[in-house]
Amino acid sequence: MRPFPRDLSDRSMVASAVQGPLVDTFGRAVTYLRVSVTDRCDFRCVYCMSEHMTFLPKQDLLTLEELDRLCSAFVARGVRKLRLTGGEPLVRRDVMTLFRALSRHLETGRLEELTVTTNGSQLARYAADLAACGVRRINVSVDTLDPDKFRAVTRWGDLGKVMEGIAAAKAAGIKVKLNAVALRDVNEHEIAGLMEWCHGEGHDLSLIEVMPLGEVGAERVDQYLPLSEVRAKLEERYALTDIPFRTGGPARYVEVKETGGRLGFITPLTHNFCEGCNRVRVTCTGTLFMCLGQEDAADLRAPLRASADDALLQTAIDEAIFRKPKGHDFVIDRTSRTPAVSRHMSTTGG
Ligand code: SAM
Ligand code: SF4
Repeated sequence: MRPFPRDLSDRSMVASAVQGPLVDTFGRAVTYLRVSVTDRCDFRCVYCMSEHMTFLPKQDLLTLEELDRLCSAFVARGVRKLRLTGGEPLVRRDVMTLFRALSRHLETGRLEELTVTTNGSQLARYAADLAACGVRRINVSVDTLDPDKFRAVTRWGDLGKVMEGIAAAKAAGIKVKLNAVALRDVNEHEIAGLMEWCHGEGHDLSLIEVMPLGEVGAERVDQYLPLSEVRAKLEERYALTDIPFRTGGPARYVEVKETGGRLGFITPLTHNFCEGCNRVRVTCTGTLFMCLGQEDAADLRAPLRASADDALLQTAIDEAIFRKPKGHDFVIDRTSRTPAVSRHMSTTGG
């Protein structure tokens, strides 16, 4: 990671700050920020974490006030969509304070969408509060509807609680999209059933290809199930029509004639979507990753803490966006045994 200059008397960098929309050197406007508010989680999904994870010391984390300031600095630069994620965002203590603070940007109209990706374990408790903060859509990760398998995939998860959470979100008027990671031999034969359930409940479903992020104590190649294969299987039973529907993310959607619902495919491996990338990610320690699949990062915590105004922070953001790479180079095959990047998805925020 490129360190923030210690010598804060060097004002030349500040002077070079270009305050305006964030556009990278490939002409892509950065309008979407994902923020991991904690690296901790109450699950240990087999594709995301190893069973025994070491988490960051709490003092390394940005405070909720600092997270608010950081997010607001991006909103001031044209970020229109903000997703809080993690780890599990809803296990961060007092996280609703952050949602409440950020909702002011919805009220002013600077922010189009405030949303969250969650494992759903705490959703029953927070759904109404989220709705009150202006959260209109959320993503809930559910890979299987079989409680035993759910427990096996998440290692610690209780499907019943997640289902209660999804029901509470629906009751609170929040549109729920389910995310499922397609896993060879685990849920590959359940995807049609999961889709039927989602569409029956009025939820969209997005399928995700497993990405080689972090050591998880399992062979990625054994987990990896290409979505091209899943789609071909589904097409034996369902009529899938490509539709231009987008939610600002990388999913490409089809409409399923038989269910009338939408199914998304997030295919970082089989179809690289980097050319339209509009997003960057910040970790809970204030590290900005310009690409999920690359190691380059910028420290935003030092400039954030160095002064009460945002000039240094904005300069650091400009410098980082200037370095946003063209794309990732994920590969999963028998010859690439080590992860493409060493950090886990829970660090960067999925
Ligand atoms: N804990 C929350 C959850 O599970 O929704 C938010 C964080 S989680 C890291 C965000 C998303 O990343 C989840 O949908 C999860 O399934 C997905 N994910 C985690 N590790 C992944 C990996 N290695 N490849 C693809 N998706 C992954
Ligand atoms: Fe936790 Fe989400 Fe990772 Fe599962 S995918 S271990 S719920 S952060």
